[in-house]
Amino acid sequence: MRISMIGTGYVGLVSGACLADFGHHVVCVDKDEAKIEALQRGEIPIFEPGLDVLVASNVKAGRLSFVTETETAVREAQAVFIAVGTPSRRGDGHADLSYIYAATREIAACLDGYKIIVTKSTVPVGTGDEVERILREIRPDADFAVVSNPEFLREGAAISDFKRPDRIVIGTEDPRAREVMAEIYRPLYLNAAPILFTNRRSSELIKYAANAFLAMKITFINEMADLCEQVGGNVQDVARGIGLDNRIGPKFLHPGPGYGGSCFPKDTLALVRTATEFGTPLRIVETVVGVNDARKAHMARKVVAAAGGDVRGKTVAMLGLTFKPNTDDMREAPSIAIVHSLLDKGARLRVYDPEGMDEARKVMPEGLVYTSGPYECAEGADVLVIVTEWDAFRALDLERLKTLLKKPVFVDLRNLYRPDELKRHGFDYVGVGVPASGA
Ligand code: NAD
Repeated sequence: MRISMIGTGYVGLVSGACLADFGHHVVCVDKDEAKIEALQRGEIPIFEPGLDVLVASNVKAGRLSFVTETETAVREAQAVFIAVGTPSRRGDGHADLSYIYAATREIAACLDGYKIIVTKSTVPVGTGDEVERILREIRPDADFAVVSNPEFLREGAAISDFKRPDRIVIGTEDPRAREVMAEIYRPLYLNAAPILFTNRRSSELIKYAANAFLAMKITFINEMADLCEQVGGNVQDVARGIGLDNRIGPKFLHPGPGYGGSCFPKDTLALVRTATEFGTPLRIVETVVGVNDARKAHMARKVVAAAGGDVRGKTVAMLGLTFKPNTDDMREAPSIAIVHSLLDKGARLRVYDPEGMDEARKVMPEGLVYTSGPYECAEGADVLVIVTEWDAFRALDLERLKTLLKKPVFVDLRNLYRPDELKRHGFDYVGVGVPASGA
């Protein structure tokens, strides 16, 4: 099958490379010339484990290529995937669909023969109808179907998520489109990945409902963590105690500094906007958004309290900047708000992230000291804060850290360490929803 992928970002590049690996011929298109030139040179513009090898082998096999120009890629394709960004629209939080509609217009100009246009980007319910309307308006003669096929991959585990998904959701009522989509995903079908065919609107909604539900689960356990701190409970035990219930499940019950990233913040907000527009407010999701926003300031206050109530003139060493491990993605990372808040309170910041330093420099405020590793970061600091749970931070040499820090104060916003262990090493330890332990 010949496929073109419009938009070669985190989703487009991974999806394109994986579909090529299934044996399809994929042309990835992007407007960003620097990105395409890098890919043509064999460089991967993002950090995603295993992606370099996957891209290289499929390029070598002649199944994957990268271009900046849409026309030929679309003309030759039987299926055209749209994987452009749908960020929050400035001001109102609605999904900004301008990239989707611009791509749609470019595709319209190149339609010939039967093609399916597949929206892989996360788009509000009804967007497929609008894509179809635009295509029909520009090309009333064309033979096509617009399909929704939301993507559920997680950055950091994107390739295995794409190749071994929990499910594939396909929204179409066109029998021919259904056949083409079944053919595209046939290798996964053989692996018994459930394929759920729905109408287009349900498919669009499934993606938002899934993200909102997961954001709610995270927010729920975060609030439970706060309650545990007040009543002397341990949220790790509470999470395990409820997670062992099959109806609840253990995943997404890890308390932390609040969800961030390229999807949950914008998607929860966009869902709230859509629901409000349709006169069906989603009170739970609205609350989740508000609670999560407030959480970052709460985490900064936690650091201040651990540092003795005031960080003015003190140095905070921050380990982990990306919104989660195994990615360089800094979009909506909780670290950004925490850094701003600590700087406002007069702190000095030393920071380190295994893969996110370049992206962090683009979005962080001025004045941070970027360091080359966790121990360099800790040098002379009054308090150490773990914000992202990179594996590299799970087994730090605590004795060495203690000699480097000015004061042995350890704030663990991911509960990577056990309070008693840190106490034994002479640290003042503060986790999330677990009893603090003083040295
Ligand atoms: P991204 O910003 O990394 O990539 C989007 C790319 O599209 C950019 O490289 C941009 O230059 C390109 N682009 C924009 N307009 C174009 C056009 N007309 N022609 C060609 N290229 C164009 O975004 P992303 O993180 O890959 O997300 C894409 C979509 O997938 C979003 O809707 C997002 O919500 C959704 N999604 C993302 C993830 C994730 O983990 N990142 C997971 C599931 C779904």
